[in-house]
Amino acid sequence: MRKVAAITGGAQGIGRAAALAFAEEGYAVAVADIDKEAGFEIVRFLHQAGGTAMFMHVDIADEASVKRWMNMIIKEFGRIDVLMNNAGIGKNSPMLELPLADFDRVIAVNLRGTFLCSQQAASYMRKQGKGAIINIASTRGLMSEAGTEAYSASKGGILALTHAMAVSLGHYGIRVNAISPGWIETADWQLSTRAKKPQHSERDRMQHPVGRVGTPEDIAQACLFLSSDKAGFITGQNLVVDGGMTIKMIYE
Ligand code: NAD
Repeated sequence: MRKVAAITGGAQGIGRAAALAFAEEGYAVAVADIDKEAGFEIVRFLHQAGGTAMFMHVDIADEASVKRWMNMIIKEFGRIDVLMNNAGIGKNSPMLELPLADFDRVIAVNLRGTFLCSQQAASYMRKQGKGAIINIASTRGLMSEAGTEAYSASKGGILALTHAMAVSLGHYGIRVNAISPGWIETADWQLSTRAKKPQHSERDRMQHPVGRVGTPEDIAQACLFLSSDKAGFITGQNLVVDGGMTIKMIYE
């Protein structure tokens, strides 16, 4: 039976690259996103390439919307093997001026959305006796710049949620891991009319021990690995995929 990958925020950026990578591995792909134009575009593209895919307009912060999406996946594809909790937003602002409503919305989408989708997907995975959940956190869950309180808190929360859910769901055969991307260039992975060719300076590149900025494909490949049976003994972990940026000391 064809495996099924459910990807939130799969219409653009990292999620779009992951949708393509899972489809290339033979998965049926279910994309959830708030951007309808981009969502239908990626699904059209996957169909033209011979893949199996569906798009649904879903706000992952909304319980009814997430439940409709999961029901639709089961109706269309019959199972959920992988959930990639990828959709996320940021609202950077000086801390003393950050409106509480903005703080709440970032937490609602990034953290509550990750919990909500996982809770719904896990109820189906439990019946299958197997599943993999990949949560996209960030290196900003581990370290910060000024004015990133809401985003950093949401990503730190995702890391804690990852090990908590790994413990709760392990005996159902469900593994839960996080990936913390560093600087990933997504300009060329947006809706085609908005996509741009990325440009980086030598300084941008040299902040990374590997000598380049990351690409959405870098994260997509890490997702494929953590979802596969090759990672069968890995759960509750956070895989930092940042070209070494966060292990580099800076003396300037
Ligand atoms: P992106 O903005 O390019 O794509 C995110 C997608 O999520 C968009 O298509 C957007 O419409 C969708 N989305 C936003 N809110 C949604 C909601 N409420 N419900 C459903 N879909 C929603 O972003 P990206 O850079 O590809 O980031 C993807 C994930 O990776 C995010 O969680 C982000 O925090 C994380 N991340 C990105 C980077 C980076 O450098 N790009 C670094 C670390 C972590």
